[in-house]
Amino acid sequence: MAYLFFLFTQSGWVPFVPPLLSFLISGTLVLAYKTVYQTYHDPLTGLANRRDLEKKLQQLNEQKNSDSSELVAVLFIDLNRFKTINEGLGHQAGDYLLVATSQRLQEQLNSRKHLGRVGGDEFAIWLKPVTDKQEVVNFAEKLQLVLSQPLFWQGQEIYTTVTIGISFGETDKNFRGPELLRYADIAMHKAKAINSSRPQIFEPGMDTQAVQRWHLEKDLRVGLEEKEFKLYYQPIFSLKTGKIAGFEALVRWDSKTRGFVSPGDFIPVAEETGLIVPLGEWILREACRQIRDWHERFPRYPALIMSVNLSGRQFSEPNLVKQIQRILEAAGVEGDRLKLEITESMMMNNVEEAIALLNSLKDLGLRLSIDDFGTGYSSLSYLHRFPVDTLKVDKSFVGRMEEGKDSQKYISIVRTIISLGHNLHLDVIAEGIETEGQMNILEDLSCEYGQGYLFSRPLSVENAEALLAAQNPL
Ligand code: C2E
Ligand code: MG
Ligand code: MG
Repeated sequence: MAYLFFLFTQSGWVPFVPPLLSFLISGTLVLAYKTVYQTYHDPLTGLANRRDLEKKLQQLNEQKNSDSSELVAVLFIDLNRFKTINEGLGHQAGDYLLVATSQRLQEQLNSRKHLGRVGGDEFAIWLKPVTDKQEVVNFAEKLQLVLSQPLFWQGQEIYTTVTIGISFGETDKNFRGPELLRYADIAMHKAKAINSSRPQIFEPGMDTQAVQRWHLEKDLRVGLEEKEFKLYYQPIFSLKTGKIAGFEALVRWDSKTRGFVSPGDFIPVAEETGLIVPLGEWILREACRQIRDWHERFPRYPALIMSVNLSGRQFSEPNLVKQIQRILEAAGVEGDRLKLEITESMMMNNVEEAIALLNSLKDLGLRLSIDDFGTGYSSLSYLHRFPVDTLKVDKSFVGRMEEGKDSQKYISIVRTIISLGHNLHLDVIAEGIETEGQMNILEDLSCEYGQGYLFSRPLSVENAEALLAAQNPL
């Protein structure tokens, strides 16, 4: 009250000051409450979210007491047809399905305290104390039955089934609450991997490759929706002048659940599942947008080229040429600013078709490069027929030119690849240059371009721009 008295004595007293202050204070409190609520609740269903559920399980952890051990069960429930309904009937139908499912689960529990929505179409329940494991399995089967009953959306019958994983833990000394959610999730994925409609109980060792792959696939889909991917750019330098000739776009995945995942770990799964097609399209769009932006902002580099890796799956997409044409037009980029990196193996499945496709890509003005040259399988008799511009010497050869008893042999291999490229009027880029010694050998062998940690690691947009700003152009 002292400040009011002060205002009053200084003739600053205005009767609306106290209500204004209380309005501001209560407003701030409401906002703070809302923030806390949103941190721990799913806005659609009003249920606890994953964070809240993990927090509650963590609290069980802290309450554990070695005298009286109790059995805790976690059920992880996944809606099997959610994606089909959400994409086929629209997001409103998807939302309706999620809300209706949360209500059905609450009815079975008589309380929402132990229920949460832990992912897009995933719910979890924890039960304590449990006296009989079989009762939990029976309860899970009952939930499966209840949740498979049809729902009605705008006069249409919609139905889904659910897959359930279960984990158990005892609140003794070794109890780790939040782990139970992960174990139940693994058990759910195991049920999916073996195509089982019955609830699966977690067992140690269940986290096998098949289950890990399921997880990765699921996270990749989320990652695409949530835009968790980013492009990094590794500069390619002219070994003659030391100046930047272009960049290779390299995708990075900063996953909310996994942290940083390297492309070597997720590109093969994205390939297998076909997710590489939408991801690859985004990569092409983003890389083209970026090179146009750099051309505009760094006009001192008119010759800058952007290299983009193409996966085998993208290469066999029937509308690839049209797609790239559209992307170039939308970005306002000339075809010769873009270089596609393909591997030998991609072209060898059907050589004639591959040559026709490469010719159509060349008709767009694109440049083409054979990546990791020498590691795949290719027939040298075809090489002169591939309309490519560049060979990239694989880093496994470059990295062995200096060490070990076979170093001279590797220098010979690299020399042969470079001569082969030059005889076919191709330029050559050496990848994975890490030492000055390697760079000197490659210069002596008249290799035109180099890329590797010696010069620069793949860079974020900001760092690539700082490099462009600092370097003198070609
Ligand atoms: P790549 O196309 O042969 O790319 C070169 C890889 O070598 C990159 O790894 C790069 O970071 C790494 N590298 C560069 N300089 C050095 C060096 O001096 N020493 C060593 N040890 N490594 C170096 P990254 O980014 O992990 O990518 C691995 C592979 O994943 C790529 O090999 C490519 O096959 C694939 N990939 C990456 N980004 C994409 C993408 O956007 N689309 C597709 N389809 N594949 C991609
Ligand atoms: Mg590459
Ligand atoms: Mg390579």
